[in-house]
Amino acid sequence: MNKGAFYKLSYGLYVVTAGEEGKFNGQIANTVFQVTSEPPTVAVSINKQNYTHECIQSSRRFAVSILEEATPMTMIGRFGFKCGRDINKFDGIQVRTGKTGVPIVTSHSVAFIEAEVTGQMDCGTHTIFLGKVVECDILDATAEPMTYAYYHKVKGGKSPKNAPTYQKEAPSAEPSASPEKASRYTCTVCGYIYDPEKGDPDGKIKPGTRFEDLPADWVCPVCGAGKDKFEIVSAQ
Ligand code: FE
Repeated sequence: MNKGAFYKLSYGLYVVTAGEEGKFNGQIANTVFQVTSEPPTVAVSINKQNYTHECIQSSRRFAVSILEEATPMTMIGRFGFKCGRDINKFDGIQVRTGKTGVPIVTSHSVAFIEAEVTGQMDCGTHTIFLGKVVECDILDATAEPMTYAYYHKVKGGKSPKNAPTYQKEAPSAEPSASPEKASRYTCTVCGYIYDPEKGDPDGKIKPGTRFEDLPADWVCPVCGAGKDKFEIVSAQ
């Protein structure tokens, strides 16, 4: 079986939000699709371990924000690689309360869809929630929605372990960085690249700092992974 075939399936990149009465969460999902047009019905596939799963189970409603290509990796990292049990993911994010009371992420969203859960299917690690659409609208008619292929190819993004599309990747080619130039390192969790020429301004790391010289407690600015989750980027 060649699982590379799965990479030929097309997806988008979305923030799915859910919850009620002060207990809200949102997460990145790529498995969102329209099932029927009459009645308008969509489905989402959510990992049972995710806090958003718990929120959909209890609120029986969810919203989907369709992200634009220009969505920064830090925002994707916040919703895709961090847990809403630990942080408030909506800090600094533009949100509006929808018809269902669910917060709809409007930052970098080209459109949104709100739905009430009408059914669900147990799929082992994941649950597929079916939702009858109660509201939807376009937020930015000019921006391009991000496809999952764009996220991987152009943004250098990865799938978190809880994503339905997660696959273990083969080890990268052996490092061949030139000795005189400091090497770039990539986060194996989220795909962020540490470039020594740029440093990490958010983490107060000055440009010109080699990866090897970063403090031991430095973490990935996108997903929060430690230095041990980074690997060297081969010279091109
Ligand atoms: Fe990361």
